[in-house]
Amino acid sequence: MREIGHWINGQLVAGTSGKFADVFNPATGEVQARVALASKAELDAATADAAKAQVKWGATNPQRRARVMMAMVGLLNRDMEKLAEALSSEHGKTIPDAKGDIQRGLEVIEFCIGAPHLLKGEFTDSAGPGIDMYSMRQPIGVAAGITPFNFPAMIPMWKMGPALACGNAFILKPSERAPTVPLMLAALMKEAGLPDGVLQVINGDKESVDAILDNETISGVGFVGSTPIAQYIYARGTANGKRVQCFGGAKNHMIIMPDADLDQAADALVGAGFGAAGERCMAISVAVPVGQATADALIERLIPRIEKLKVGPYTAGNDVDYGPVVTGAAKANILKLIESGVAQGANLVVDGRDFKLQGYEDGFFVGPHLFDNVTTDMEIYRKEIFGPVLSVVRAESYEQALGMAMDHEYGNGTAIYTRDGDTARDFAARINVGMIGINVPIPVPLAYHTFGGWKKSSFGDLNQHGPDSFRFYTRTKTITARWPSGIKEGGEFNFKQME
Ligand code: NAD
Repeated sequence: MREIGHWINGQLVAGTSGKFADVFNPATGEVQARVALASKAELDAATADAAKAQVKWGATNPQRRARVMMAMVGLLNRDMEKLAEALSSEHGKTIPDAKGDIQRGLEVIEFCIGAPHLLKGEFTDSAGPGIDMYSMRQPIGVAAGITPFNFPAMIPMWKMGPALACGNAFILKPSERAPTVPLMLAALMKEAGLPDGVLQVINGDKESVDAILDNETISGVGFVGSTPIAQYIYARGTANGKRVQCFGGAKNHMIIMPDADLDQAADALVGAGFGAAGERCMAISVAVPVGQATADALIERLIPRIEKLKVGPYTAGNDVDYGPVVTGAAKANILKLIESGVAQGANLVVDGRDFKLQGYEDGFFVGPHLFDNVTTDMEIYRKEIFGPVLSVVRAESYEQALGMAMDHEYGNGTAIYTRDGDTARDFAARINVGMIGINVPIPVPLAYHTFGGWKKSSFGDLNQHGPDSFRFYTRTKTITARWPSGIKEGGEFNFKQME
């Protein structure tokens, strides 16, 4: 059995804890490898080495750190196929979708090339007589990232890019369900010029997460995953005096107004609801058509589109719309929630429960499902299903639809489909959700804006990537300086190189 270890001090190393977790091939259901789960002692030792390596890296000028990011972009493009193959084989998503996962991470690395500009401080000339005042952004030291299975390339890069570009050392604890790509990213960072020890990838489970939260050297933690774990990590990390930002689960609503282009809305819903088997925190899982006529016309358009979806292994290339879910346990949980929807009286108009794929009977495939007449008290409405299940909740009015999205405990993303600018504007202004799409189903902001939800989709201050990430991974120091007499040096005739 292939064994996956850790990336410590610039090389792959085997785990020493004796604890492992299975890594599946979700398309076949087979265990394809086992990943080492680090002990507290392994995590602490890697962190101590990272702290030593950070001193020199933090003192390296930002332009040089940015050049590592620049080289990394080239290497990611060079290895795109290899990375996508590894990603799909552990996650199950299609190859084009895996490339999208890598691309959205790459774009944040690209953004980090702007580190010298983003790290510039503030300066006030003559804040008082002979007094100047300036502030600088300094690295927080050693930061850590704990990431989920569903974007094994993108989210680790959203974390490591800004953290490293700001001059920190970074401990990445990726999902134990998709550990290979994060290790490949670490090897590419080394090839791009990152010094050994500055980036450590420690595979593990709760033990290594708790070790991160209790380690006194780690001063900042970024987490992405489910809401209960986000809350736990936020509480324990902040109680230990760390800066913590945690991004949690979602239940994203799309409101479809009577004046919307319903074909466009139906196409958008199918892509946003079923892409990546619904395993996206920005997936649309609830459609809210306004008015019975809109609902009927929408359902009529959704059914044939959903019935036509092609579900299969990533090895089928472009011929597949979505692949299996990540594990047998995830599949069982999705099917249980579907049964609860049926039991609570929702109308299952596309029933994928009997879905089977010849030759892949043991794979974790889930057929597509469409529920109509879902009500807000049902479990399938309240819980994040994280599977290929779209629920239609009918609303009588725009106000009712808006209120529904606002009352839901999650607030990651949302969308409205309409031709009316006034409604769209009102929606964007009033909704209590972090990322809004107007005739855009999955409004994931680009790297130079920031990503983050509201309500129980996010805990802590500041968003991911964009300028917020440079604030999160640095702290400000403000200096007040008076020089009663100038320091005189001899003339300097050549351009000086900044070292
Ligand atoms: P998860 O919460 O199970 O795991 C996330 C990380 O936490 C993993 O590294 C895991 O090892 C660790 N972990 C799991 N259980 C733990 C415990 N008891 N104690 C300490 N650490 C623990 O999430 P997942 O299933 O990998 O990912 C799917 C979830 O992530 C969904 O809820 C999805 O909405 C969410 N997500 C959110 C965003 C966002 O930006 N808001 C993005 C992607 C995914």
